[in-house]
Amino acid sequence: MLTITIFITIEHMIKEKIYVIGHKSPDTDTVCSAIAYAEFLKKKKLNAISAIAGEINSETKFVLDYFKIKKPSKLESIKGKRVVLVDHNEAAQSPDGVEEAEIIEILDHHKIGRTFDRPINFQTKPLGSTSTLVAQRMLADKFKITRPLAGILLSAILSDTVIFKSSTTTPEDIKIAKALASIAKIKNIKEFGIEVKKKKSDLRGLSAEKIVCSDFKIFQEGEVKFGIGQVEMVDLTEIKKRKTELLSAMEKVMLGEKAVFLILMMTDIMNEGSELLVSGDASYLAKALKKDIKDNSVYAKGMMSRKKDLVPLLVGAIN
Ligand code: MN
Ligand code: MN
Repeated sequence: MLTITIFITIEHMIKEKIYVIGHKSPDTDTVCSAIAYAEFLKKKKLNAISAIAGEINSETKFVLDYFKIKKPSKLESIKGKRVVLVDHNEAAQSPDGVEEAEIIEILDHHKIGRTFDRPINFQTKPLGSTSTLVAQRMLADKFKITRPLAGILLSAILSDTVIFKSSTTTPEDIKIAKALASIAKIKNIKEFGIEVKKKKSDLRGLSAEKIVCSDFKIFQEGEVKFGIGQVEMVDLTEIKKRKTELLSAMEKVMLGEKAVFLILMMTDIMNEGSELLVSGDASYLAKALKKDIKDNSVYAKGMMSRKKDLVPLLVGAIN
């Protein structure tokens, strides 16, 4: 009788599904690191499956199609589920139901923004992408990285580091990207990177609200809740013409989120800087940049990364 019970328990543990999932408004790094890490866990005989918390963007779609990898299925809520969270840790960015999920592990490269009431496997490294971290784990474990997996991991590194131009890029990202490119048979990494990034630059046919929300994150710093959306473009001319429309969409999102202010980072990949639009209380951004903000916008030269260049300045201004 006892043997049977134990057997059932172990069997149950092995069979119980583990969802590997990234942040809301998924980007290429969130989706691809989840897919790859789920494959890695499967090799360890765990019943892991990747999932997404929202629709994928045009860049991620291009990457998955290019390497012929199926899009993970969408999970509306992770309530009551066993999960591995990738590419984020703050609860405000997690899929719905996170308060009642069983988080068994977190793999990330963002600032630590939450605590837990029990021990947890939590690995964060100041790398350019979560996909670099996943690839490191695979290589250390002598896991055989297939061509499609190498391809999507490489794409995610190029996406998150803006083809190594972002200040978040580390020598390790470049080293891992080169190793992945050789497995994926991508000869010219930079050319391929531009091809990937261009897919997100085409905003024709996208509503202003879609543009604001396509890569959007909410932050809670003490009493202050704020949101930052980001678009990375090869040219800002077209998007700048839509300023009025974008600001009214931002206003709407801000009210919906009950945020104090909202920023849209329009990053110019080629010229390496960002035009920032702000709605709501602009004083935090003015203080952060030590600049006056006229007509809800300001240009920040050299600013490429939300997490490394903008968020720390805002956090400093708030506190
Ligand atoms: Mn991400
Ligand atoms: Mn990332």
